[in-house]
Amino acid sequence: MSMKSENEHSEGGAGLAINGGAKAVTAPPPENGLHGINAVGEEEIRAVTEVLRRKSIFRFMKDSSTSPVANLEKRFAERTGAKHALAVNSGTSALISGLVGIGVSQGDEVLIPAYTYIATGAAVMALGAIPVVVEIDDSMMMDPLDIANKVTPRTTAVIPVHMRGKPCNMEAILAEARRFDLKVLEDCAQAMGGTYRGRALGLLGDAGAYSMQEFKIITAGEGGMVLSNDSTVFDPASIYHDSAYAFWMEGNPGALTSGTPVFLGENYRQSEVHGAIALEQLKKLDGILDRMRGIRFKIKEALEKLPGARLETSNDEEGDCGISIGFHMDTRDEAVRMAETLHAEGVPFGSVFSKQIPNRHIFYHWDFLIDKRTPHANGFPWKGACDYQYSRDMCPQTLDLLERNSVMRITQIMSDDYVDQCCRGIEKVARHR
Ligand SMILES: *Cc1c(COP(=O)(O)O)cnc(C)c1O
Repeated sequence: MSMKSENEHSEGGAGLAINGGAKAVTAPPPENGLHGINAVGEEEIRAVTEVLRRKSIFRFMKDSSTSPVANLEKRFAERTGAKHALAVNSGTSALISGLVGIGVSQGDEVLIPAYTYIATGAAVMALGAIPVVVEIDDSMMMDPLDIANKVTPRTTAVIPVHMRGKPCNMEAILAEARRFDLKVLEDCAQAMGGTYRGRALGLLGDAGAYSMQEFKIITAGEGGMVLSNDSTVFDPASIYHDSAYAFWMEGNPGALTSGTPVFLGENYRQSEVHGAIALEQLKKLDGILDRMRGIRFKIKEALEKLPGARLETSNDEEGDCGISIGFHMDTRDEAVRMAETLHAEGVPFGSVFSKQIPNRHIFYHWDFLIDKRTPHANGFPWKGACDYQYSRDMCPQTLDLLERNSVMRITQIMSDDYVDQCCRGIEKVARHR
């Protein structure tokens, strides 16, 4: 009897850490740093050292079989099933090259989701095109139902973004793209290794762009990749990535098969040092994904017991990379309280949107768009050509979802103890609801 009342006491609201009770999670949290960077080991060190010893850190002008960058492209293509893969120096340059590949021109309108890293819109603007912001749905990615509302006669392309390792609703997005004759460039920067209905992300539309910046699933510090199955898309992307691409490719029978005439390009080449790191990281990708997916599954099971919490919709559970898990509450206040309650237990959930805290992933905080800032002194592309108006309340559905959303980031270095205690912490909060 006394045992029972003691139990009841420890299970009462007073037992919650937020009210001064003992924290559920006592195991140390994982060290800072995300996925790939925590997997760096002797393999990457050896690979970089070898490249430097060979004194050959530029990828062209040699037998491509000895180039880590060329081998990275080959492995990436094999892994994803892509006909063509091009390594570049960042995710942003992969997006820009991909946009060139799908034929986006100055003044075109390109649909992007209201919740994505700021670089998605910046890549569109780098070509003098206009980013048009589309609502998200409760999968936290582009809402296919809002595409029709945002299309104009000037819209030529759509960029679905596979946020936080989760695949977009590609079936519905592709159907809308066909309906409005839009090209599709997938932004896969946060979803390396992800799939949709068994197919690699980046190959469902016309092209895909990946990033290997330090915060991504695997990393070379900086780096990116363009994927496509269509040489009429891939060739212009390749030409744009390097102003001398056609010269390096002379005598390479596989290059520029589409007959695309050469035009001016930039320099988005990847160095062999980055390629060497990325090649080793790619070998570790499946291990990282397996571990994170296992952790995500456990946290998800615990969250299913949490009253009032609705898990984010998934467009493909199996294709999820497992880097995050999120849920919605019915109101903003409940969401904030729930995130604080879990956080106090040591379970690292956090709210996503606040007007006060600038978050580069939310259109509300993209000042350069809302204020129509541009690097061009003449105001291009806004002055004269474009009367498109932005405002902080143009995507109310997105802000409502973000305000009610809580998310936990997952890394492969979370210990079993830590993960189990996080699950117990969620269950503890659940019992108190
Ligand atoms: C990181 C990121 C990018 C940009 O990649 P960089 O390699 O940093 O240029 C683009 N889109 C999304 C969704 C990202 O998360």
